[in-house]
Amino acid sequence: MEQSQKKKGFTLVELIVVLVILAILMALIFPALVKYIDKTHKKVCELNKAGLLRDLTMEEVYDWRKDSSYDAVKLQELSNQSEYKCAQAGPYQVSRAGDGSIAVVCKEHDTDYNFNMNEALEHVMGTSEEVAELIKKYANEGKKIDSASNTGKAYSQILEALNIAGFNVSKQGVQTWSLQGIGSGNYYFYWTTEDIASKKVGDQVKVMRYNSARGTYTAGFVSVTEETLSASDSTDGKSHKYNVIGRGDRSFSEYKTDEVSQSDADKKNYSSIYGVFNKMPAQPEMKN
Ligand SMILES: [Zn+2]
Repeated sequence: MEQSQKKKGFTLVELIVVLVILAILMALIFPALVKYIDKTHKKVCELNKAGLLRDLTMEEVYDWRKDSSYDAVKLQELSNQSEYKCAQAGPYQVSRAGDGSIAVVCKEHDTDYNFNMNEALEHVMGTSEEVAELIKKYANEGKKIDSASNTGKAYSQILEALNIAGFNVSKQGVQTWSLQGIGSGNYYFYWTTEDIASKKVGDQVKVMRYNSARGTYTAGFVSVTEETLSASDSTDGKSHKYNVIGRGDRSFSEYKTDEVSQSDADKKNYSSIYGVFNKMPAQPEMKN
């Protein structure tokens, strides 16, 4: 009998059992921990947003030299300089909301904010005479401004205007957009997460479309076409050929399935139509 042999420490089997239990506990706790950290980040972000809003409002109120409120560019400049930032996403995007109040948006934590293209562009047109003229001109002449034609003279102005308005092209994964005048001061604004440049002419791609005349959003498919930017409209003085989002109603078809419909009420709401867009396949499914 080996009665003198005393147990010291763990046996290999015991060690494995302990490690397995620890691994199971970690697997159980880890997602909860991640969720908790995310929630905390979001809360801290909310507090910082509130701090920035208070600072901007006070600054505007106490700026006695001004007889009017700050424009969007000035607000954004102040936001960039402020110590109130999101720890994850950096400086907040600041704009003037439709009711005149200051709107503070975090690129990381305010992903499902209800974007209103009409208010955004109206707001931008209200703050920049130059952009307002540009959009009106393109709308009335039935001209287009495409993201693909990035040497276009109006391109950078429109892109900057969209960013100021809170339509964050990079955050929303937008690869291609197109502002298309339809006459009488109205326009369609198309955008998609698909890269149009890599498609063939005639291919169908999924898009979101905003109709300024009705103030509605629609998700659907549009065909890719090729267009030429004239040398006089290009910043480099050369003409270019581009793949662009096809223009007009004929190349656009609303996305409808047995499960998905887009009611008139839905179309007034950016989030519901964006939800439809996210469920769409990249191109239409083949019908037998
Ligand atoms: Zn944030």
